Amino acid sequence: MVYREIGKTGKKASVIGLGCEHLDSKPYEQVKSIIDTAFEHGINIFDVFMPGKEVRENISKALGVRRKEVMIQGHICSTNVGQQYDISRDMPTVQRFFEEHLRLCGGYIDFGMLFFIDSDDDYKKVFETEIAVYAQKLMEKGDIGHIGFSSHNPVTAIKVINTGLPEIMLFSINPAFDIIPTEDSIFTHLDNGFKAERFTAVEPKRAELYRLCEQKNIGITVMKTLGAGKLISKEHTPFFKPLTVSQCIHYALSRPAVISALIGCKSPEEIKEAVKYLDLTDEECDYTEILSSVRGGLHGSCVYCNHCQPCPSEINIAAVNKYLDIAKLDTGNIPPSIRSHYQNMAHKGDECTECASCENRCPFDVRIIDNMKKADELLGK
Ligand code: SF4
Ligand code: SF4
Repeated sequence: MVYREIGKTGKKASVIGLGCEHLDSKPYEQVKSIIDTAFEHGINIFDVFMPGKEVRENISKALGVRRKEVMIQGHICSTNVGQQYDISRDMPTVQRFFEEHLRLCGGYIDFGMLFFIDSDDDYKKVFETEIAVYAQKLMEKGDIGHIGFSSHNPVTAIKVINTGLPEIMLFSINPAFDIIPTEDSIFTHLDNGFKAERFTAVEPKRAELYRLCEQKNIGITVMKTLGAGKLISKEHTPFFKPLTVSQCIHYALSRPAVISALIGCKSPEEIKEAVKYLDLTDEECDYTEILSSVRGGLHGSCVYCNHCQPCPSEINIAAVNKYLDIAKLDTGNIPPSIRSHYQNMAHKGDECTECASCENRCPFDVRIIDNMKKADELLGK
């Protein structure tokens, strides 16, 4: 397994994590076999958004003494009122469900995730009420290690990041969602089939969100990595052919600030399938051909796919583009960490000889030579 630092938290998460939603309503033995397999493969981050008592108990029992070896994302505001999963912003209800989860997790949850912040209304009902205060108090008491949140909407997520409260974000990322216009709901595309005619270039607000997270050192864990299975399905894929599980994982892990792609596995075999990613070469996980088939879209934007390599000057072009994209967010306030990442590169943009071999290989017509110059101008000194 490979591990990445989770922003400023001082913790490290496995690049493949377990989304536990499919453990819901499963018999204990099945839950245990999935959790055991996750452990065997070094998975150390679990997302448990489900509020049902039985599934939470099953997970807790299956973890047993190994609880301290994994990190749990537990969700504040995920409730099960009237036996139906629901979002509640009613403080006593929120408290009751979260505290039950805390108890089942041994009195400590690593990441207290403010649940489903997708709209202005969600933002107001959480960040302008006692719910945000509650999360802070949980952290002060040591009941949770860090505050996080989950969202599917880049505009709202940017607003949340700018509160300065969260240290981690659970966000829905995959190659299809990244090219759906912000004004469309991703759930409409999931429920009614992807509308490929709506696809655009890499959606600017989503790109801005990922870069903002990198700039502020907020770790992203990814949900819907496989687009609820649609991207790997021949019948439902919006592209000319389905992606593989490894291509979806590779895509998620190549976005700025992403630390872990969570996969909702229904069986030990699905976990084994997901971790095969770690044994594949970059070429075997390459998603470029599929993405470049998207009509009209994606051109001119770097998707960090590395297809432009090798560079005779040994410049890591995707990394330079990534730092440049972050620097361009606010050229007057470039984060020192980004400047130092750039300056510590073995080969920087100023070594570009303008041979153009990379531009000939880039499927997305990125103006790489211009980018190398611009990066050095903004970050080189
Ligand atoms: S410049 Fe082009 S080929 Fe290189 S990483 Fe970016 S999108 Fe991929
Ligand atoms: S144009 Fe510059 S960045 Fe591209 S391959 Fe040549 S030297 Fe490398």
